[in-house]
Amino acid sequence: MDLKKFKKVGAKKKKLLAGFLDQLNDLVPEDMQEIVVEADARVWQKTDCTTCANCCKKMTPTFTTRDITRISRHLGMTAKDFKEKWLNKEEDTGDWVNKSQPCQFLQDNKCSIYDVRPADCAEFPHHNKVPFDMYNDTYKANIEYCPATYSLVNKVRKEVRKKYVWPED
Ligand code: SF4
Ligand code: SF4
Repeated sequence: MDLKKFKKVGAKKKKLLAGFLDQLNDLVPEDMQEIVVEADARVWQKTDCTTCANCCKKMTPTFTTRDITRISRHLGMTAKDFKEKWLNKEEDTGDWVNKSQPCQFLQDNKCSIYDVRPADCAEFPHHNKVPFDMYNDTYKANIEYCPATYSLVNKVRKEVRKKYVWPED
């Protein structure tokens, strides 16, 4: 994955794709789910997360209490020590998040706690959420970090505009 190139291309098209996601707040094609599933399958044919890991480098997962219990136990630490060492509690949301990026568990571009990773990481990039348009804001926030989400939204946008009479950007 050429992340430098992705950053350059993504910056140019981000506004366009974010605008399309905004349009989906009001307009949803009747076969939206089929369009998403088909586009997503094409995305993953060309995406190898092990050559990317940009989410682990530039974003933080949210750690639930269950995540903290499971991961700290796996590491032989108390939950308290685990939080003190690596996490911060966000003031506005109360969520536990990483103190710094890249994530402390990223090693050689891979997750060193893969089997016990946070649920948020296991579900990322959330492409299988139904209905798709309920997560427009999540995708909007992620298109500049995740090449797979960028590609999915780009493909869905193209398909929707090909099949339907759609408002101008
Ligand atoms: S816990 Fe693993 S998958 Fe989650 S951000 Fe850290 S390195 Fe990435
Ligand atoms: S989920 Fe997205 S950002 Fe994370 S490694 Fe895969 S393509 Fe990269």
